Amino acid sequence: MSRLIVVSNRVNPPTDRGEGTAGGLAMALAAALREYSGMWFGWSGQTIDEYTGKIAVQKVGGVTVATVDLEDQDRQEYYNGYANKTLWPLFHYRVDLTAYERSFDEGYKRVNTRFAEALAPLIAPEDFIWIHDYHLIPLARELRRLGVKNKIGFFLHIPWPARRLMATLPKHRQLVEALFEYDLVGFQSEDSVTAFEDYVVQEAKGTVSRERRASAFGRSTRIGAFPIGLDAEHFVEAATSQEAEMMQGRMRSSMAGRKMIVGVDRLDYSKGLEERFLAYEQFLADNAEQLEKVFFLQIATPSRDEVEAYQEIRARLDGVSGRINGAYATVDWVPIRYVNRGYRRDELAGVYRAGAIGLVTPLRDGMNLVAKEYVAAQDPKDPGVLILSRFAGAAEQMKDALIVNPFSREDVSDAIKRALAMPRPERIKRWEALVDGVKTDDVAAWRDSFVAALRETAAPALQVVSGD
Ligand code: ADP
Repeated sequence: MSRLIVVSNRVNPPTDRGEGTAGGLAMALAAALREYSGMWFGWSGQTIDEYTGKIAVQKVGGVTVATVDLEDQDRQEYYNGYANKTLWPLFHYRVDLTAYERSFDEGYKRVNTRFAEALAPLIAPEDFIWIHDYHLIPLARELRRLGVKNKIGFFLHIPWPARRLMATLPKHRQLVEALFEYDLVGFQSEDSVTAFEDYVVQEAKGTVSRERRASAFGRSTRIGAFPIGLDAEHFVEAATSQEAEMMQGRMRSSMAGRKMIVGVDRLDYSKGLEERFLAYEQFLADNAEQLEKVFFLQIATPSRDEVEAYQEIRARLDGVSGRINGAYATVDWVPIRYVNRGYRRDELAGVYRAGAIGLVTPLRDGMNLVAKEYVAAQDPKDPGVLILSRFAGAAEQMKDALIVNPFSREDVSDAIKRALAMPRPERIKRWEALVDGVKTDDVAAWRDSFVAALRETAAPALQVVSGD
């Protein structure tokens, strides 16, 4: 029987005890791995003095997990370096923050080679392999070098950038060429697929067929959009749990009859937090009658604080929120409540449910699950309004949200005004359409459609000498 092997930078299957707090993706992949009696392979998150390639295998929550430790140099060059200082900013359109350093590139290649060498002996001929995200783009190429002929799929969780941005990356062609070693390459959105096709046609002088087979560099691969979803059923359950109700009650009593606008994000420059604060300031300036009637709760969990750009954005947000509060606060009203900590899923669901508006305005986002969580958590009889950036992958699916341009303060300010005034029947109508999509296109549907598409791909093309 063929097994499924999932590979990602970090491995985090839910433990037997921790299912309540594990993320939806981890739960969905773990469920698939149990079904296919598969294995999850990746970095342990630990660093050691010298790389040994030793694989630790254990069973966690019914899933076989295989991990390797990396060296500190790997963490710096591959993880903090090429992944988080080069590809992450570039793929989120922040060329201004992108580091183009050869040592990072080398670290990235080294770790992908190490992963391939550790993983290859564990692969049986009938297994199929699913590799996740930008940390591991060259992994199929390294595996093929070692003679692995299995079907290998790749899913990119972040956006694929426009061709001209991609071209700023030294050796961009090698990176893209590496994707042609996969049998299937999945993206979050049509926008990303189109951007990839544009690169293939214009930059690599390749072709894309109507069946979405991309050909270039003397090879071909299937491509497609597979928008990721929530573990919707569990999230809806979480939203009506006792913990969620307690949290909602706590929120309500602190709201003193005011309406709440809520934002929940990892503290990342791609999320447009500073722009969001400034748009809210604009809203306060334009709508004096709303002063003291609304407030904005922004929960932003610090992340990647080893990277300077993250320290900088954090300091800027402290400054902007402090300035706005200084200008507008009264003795019993603070316009922005800015919170830097994480919450459990059920607590978060309670917070979402108490919010009259979910404000989700990333400048660029592969998908954005917070938008879907906000919808899933609403009270069907009195749902809040989702305001969503057109630059989140989720906007392709969530057309009944108020779609905004996050770069325009006026646009976002107008949407807040409109959402606050929206009559209940319109709120219900929009929400019903949104929640329907969130429930249908959930994480299990995403996983199953990707795995089915991978299994259906034609056998790997014969290795040919690069014709380009
Ligand atoms: P990204 O993967 O870029 O962080 P997503 O919106 O797709 O963005 O996913 C973020 C996930 O992290 C969501 O499931 C969200 O609930 C969770 N999250 C974000 N901030 C917090 C927080 N403060 N506490 C707990 N979970 C959080």
